[in-house]
Amino acid sequence: MKIPVPEHIQNLEAYQPGKPIKEVERELGLKNTIKMASNENPLGPCPKAVEAAISAMKEVHYYPEGGGYYLCEAISGFYGVPKENIILGNGSVELIEIAAKAFTQKGLNTVFSDGSFAMYRIATLSMSGDVKAVKMNGRTHDLKAMAKAVDANTRLLLVANPNNPTGTYNTFDEIKELMETVPESVLVIVDEAYKEYVRKEDYKSAQALLEKHKNLLVLGTFSKAYGLAGLRIGYGFGDPELLKTLHKVRSPFNTSLVAQTACIAALDDQDFVKASVELNYKEMEFLEKELAGLGLNFTPSVCNFILVDVPGSGKDFFEALLHEGVIVRPMAMSGFPNSIRVTICKREGNQRFIDAARKVLKNLKP
Ligand SMILES: *Cc1c(COP(=O)(O)O)cnc(C)c1O
Repeated sequence: MKIPVPEHIQNLEAYQPGKPIKEVERELGLKNTIKMASNENPLGPCPKAVEAAISAMKEVHYYPEGGGYYLCEAISGFYGVPKENIILGNGSVELIEIAAKAFTQKGLNTVFSDGSFAMYRIATLSMSGDVKAVKMNGRTHDLKAMAKAVDANTRLLLVANPNNPTGTYNTFDEIKELMETVPESVLVIVDEAYKEYVRKEDYKSAQALLEKHKNLLVLGTFSKAYGLAGLRIGYGFGDPELLKTLHKVRSPFNTSLVAQTACIAALDDQDFVKASVELNYKEMEFLEKELAGLGLNFTPSVCNFILVDVPGSGKDFFEALLHEGVIVRPMAMSGFPNSIRVTICKREGNQRFIDAARKVLKNLKP
């Protein structure tokens, strides 16, 4: 290629998504492959959302409403956050990119944990910002160290709560303290993609801090507990002044009519979310017991996945499992070279993973 690529883009490594089932089956000549790689909902999509999406197809000759008025209204009703405080993204990942676009440039930096979501790094580097990756406290965000890492050139501080890929969380009080410590000139983004799964008394959404802190953006998504990852809708809660700046760099029709309509129906089906969370905990118990039986260490999780430590490299273990038709995720990209992340599925899938892991472990031993 003859087109000169800017240095900050040359040095960027593209996000590596979980391998799609069809791709793995084609490449390895396998059948009945199971995907436990991207924290997708094992119950499939929320059925009411699918129905609504199909009926919305009849109107797709029209452009959608850019701001997603009716979905914002539904989200507002459900969460009790005023409509003016809500912005939609093509997945919550797009809102992270929008925030980086709006607030980052050369010479400015972003603070996050070294063991967190890979997109924080990519969004920052693609705007030629600098990355300040802060060491975790074990496998949990060290929020005090993150606050300390903030300097005059910091514009963004990102916290996944609960965190991907560790599955750990920070308490509401810790997040509150973080907001009270970090200067108002830093946009704090609390990414709550897995909030629906958390069952801890001391955990609460940071949305309760919005009124007091105008430099806070709280993210949620329909990709996980609602089972709508393929539709791409995430949302952000923030001060209207902040959202005004974000809207300037948002592409005009970033969320589709079909997706907006489906998510309105999904919000109305809390039984589906409840069933998803219940299945998750039942199966988490099964997996924890079986992993312990295999002698594999794991990080206790409040999410729909488990970070499992393996002998040797996570990449090798991932590839060995792949040949057994089980797709998990190696986690070197997020700072865990000796771990894999396993999405909690239904019993059949979880059992297959355990059986495959047992086989892989056996082959490892001389
Ligand atoms: C899955 C996930 C998201 C959700 O991304 P979408 O773009 O909404 O699909 C966001 N943050 C983290 C940490 C995630 O793991």
